Amino acid sequence: MTAAVPRTGREVREVLRSLGARPSRRLGQNFLVDRGVLDRIAAAAGSGPGDLVLEIGAGLGALTERLAASGARVLAVEIDGLLAGFLREAFAGDPRVRLLEGDALDGRGGLSDGLLAALAEEEARRTGRLLVAANLPYSAATPALLALLLREPPPADMVLMVQREVADRIRAAPSTPEYGPLSVLVQAVARTAPVAAASGRCFHPVPAVGSSVVRVTPDPALRAAAGDLGRLRTVVHAAFGLRRKTLGNALGRAGLLPAGGLAAAGFDPSRRGESLSPAEFLRLAAAVGSLASGSGAGEDRGK
Ligand code: SAM
Repeated sequence: MTAAVPRTGREVREVLRSLGARPSRRLGQNFLVDRGVLDRIAAAAGSGPGDLVLEIGAGLGALTERLAASGARVLAVEIDGLLAGFLREAFAGDPRVRLLEGDALDGRGGLSDGLLAALAEEEARRTGRLLVAANLPYSAATPALLALLLREPPPADMVLMVQREVADRIRAAPSTPEYGPLSVLVQAVARTAPVAAASGRCFHPVPAVGSSVVRVTPDPALRAAAGDLGRLRTVVHAAFGLRRKTLGNALGRAGLLPAGGLAAAGFDPSRRGESLSPAEFLRLAAAVGSLASGSGAGEDRGK
């Protein structure tokens, strides 16, 4: 290695200075400098030989190095050319790390073509599980999580550092202020658990808000029972899009299910979307699906 992964806050600042790089807020560049938190993420990921670990936003490689040390293969994605150049040098001698320079996302809520192609190649050779471990950049956290979760097949497990507010939304219960589309879509197909909290001092530069590490474990049984995830997404967004409206109003206006259809499916049309559990949303999406595939689909929409 000609470049060494920085291990302390001072080393991170020195490397950034030597690269002429100023941490970008837009790219969520808050580098983890707390060994304890980095070790916890790597330990929680639980990777080992044969596994493939996807890391979105590798930064200066602090987590990458720990994941690779587990014996797993790491597909590390980094959008920033300066950082990617550093990573390329730092991991040049390590056959376990594949660096992908570029955007992990396609800007339309999906994974980028570059990442999908690299994942397909890597998955063809993996003998273990596909895992995700990352300190996600703020702007990419929600789309990356949903794209990975709704992908076929989903990863076996994900351990993600996200802003505390995003972690709260992921784990929120119905009828709480944090409960929204992210909560429903995640909980409909996965189990979640808190892993650790991290104060601003664990990062350089110090972010304005706190962060949490959360585990999201896709559940094959939940997924098999969930049916059409695209339709679930449409129904959830319609129900929360008009948050102050009743379900009858929100779904009727979206042309998805008239109030009569809601009642026939066993839902009180005067309920609000935010009061429905993920399981109820799945039942609702199934009702919308059977109406759409039924002979009279949409005939009395909006009435
Ligand atoms: N993993 C490093 C760590 O823990 O110190 C860096 C984490 S930092 C919160 C997020 C990283 O994601 C930054 O290096 C940033 O450049 C990168 N990034 C931001 N948006 C990205 C995207 N759309 N695709 C890939 N990487 C991205």
